[in-house]
Amino acid sequence: MTTLGTPLTPHATRVLLLGSGELGKEVAIELMRLGVEVIAADRYADAPAMQVAHASHVLDMLDVDALRAVIDEVRPHLIVPEIEALATDVLREVEEAGAATVIPTARATRLTMDREGIRRLAAEELGLPTSPYRFVDSLAELEAAIAELGTPCVVKPVMSSSGKGQSVVRDAADASHAWEYAAAGARAAAGRLIVEAFVDFDYEITQLTVRHAGGTTFLDPVGHVQVDGDYRESWQPHPMPDAAVRRAREVAGAVTEALGGYGVFGVELFIRGDEVIFNEVSPRPHDTGLVTLASQHLSEFALHARAILGLPVPAEVDAAPAASCAVLAEGSGVPVIGGVDAALGVPEADLRLFGKPRVEGRRRIGVAVATGGNVAQARERARAAASALDVTLA
Ligand code: AMP
Repeated sequence: MTTLGTPLTPHATRVLLLGSGELGKEVAIELMRLGVEVIAADRYADAPAMQVAHASHVLDMLDVDALRAVIDEVRPHLIVPEIEALATDVLREVEEAGAATVIPTARATRLTMDREGIRRLAAEELGLPTSPYRFVDSLAELEAAIAELGTPCVVKPVMSSSGKGQSVVRDAADASHAWEYAAAGARAAAGRLIVEAFVDFDYEITQLTVRHAGGTTFLDPVGHVQVDGDYRESWQPHPMPDAAVRRAREVAGAVTEALGGYGVFGVELFIRGDEVIFNEVSPRPHDTGLVTLASQHLSEFALHARAILGLPVPAEVDAAPAASCAVLAEGSGVPVIGGVDAALGVPEADLRLFGKPRVEGRRRIGVAVATGGNVAQARERARAAASALDVTLA
């Protein structure tokens, strides 16, 4: 029997969200609906999930002492990471002491903290197909790796996401440019990079996978388009040959089982014919999975909430044809969003405006989602809704 308490009382079921962006906001809303007490943390104030949480904390989550202090103060039952850049040693201590459950597991948060842990697990321990790769720490090593792997190849900082610092090297002479670009985009551990042979895939998908008390549920494939390593559009279900669907589930099943624990995982795969090549995995809801807000009765966020609380998750989740289109803002200032009426006038379209307090550079500030008679129509509608918005920075 699963029992949930009442928020803000000594009987509360408390969840500490580490990272309070738009994905955390949707997870918080789903937890709130079940009467869970949600405490949101991030490195800046008024982050999206903080705006829908019972309480919030602003801290550098890579700072061991600061993270430990917040966990001691909040005394959460569950710690739910939304980002990779965390002091994962603290999470391991907390898990070992039995003080809280880390979602999905402390080991998974460490292995997925950078590209190296997860790539070595997938390719070297589990033997899953990946692009050929090398890890390098200097320009000379980068040049040697490019010579070995050949061009084109993709250069990425081991600690980065959303395409930051990532570039495609088409000519060996571009190595120093890729090196400098990567150093500027790295989150931490500047210097260490992964160099991957370029995979000439037919398409790429996210295989959303839910590990829960009743087993593992594979959601319908999410297709997506990335620009500069950052997601712009996604749709579901992406049509795939049966053999590739089976293989995608096998690969996702293997990597998520190795990471363990409960929750949603976003397994990123490249598909070429029936061949499935593992790229990376997030042990949490995935940005391309925002489409499930429209496509599924239970979105990836609702499924995450259920799974982490030990509640039932259906063995099959049907997806109606749907799409999402990211809304970006570029510049500096506070987003002010016009044309919301026009966007919501698009048939079967809906919006999530994240409420990010400020934009510096290029940031995703919202998403348009839509259903349709088929994926093509849903994509058109999501794009129409996103482009009806007129975003200015005040
Ligand atoms: P990542 O940050 O690893 O998810 O990379 C972002 C995007 O860059 C992917 O979704 C692909 O579209 C592209 N990409 C990454 N690695 C490769 C690769 N080895 N070959 C071809 N495209 C890649």
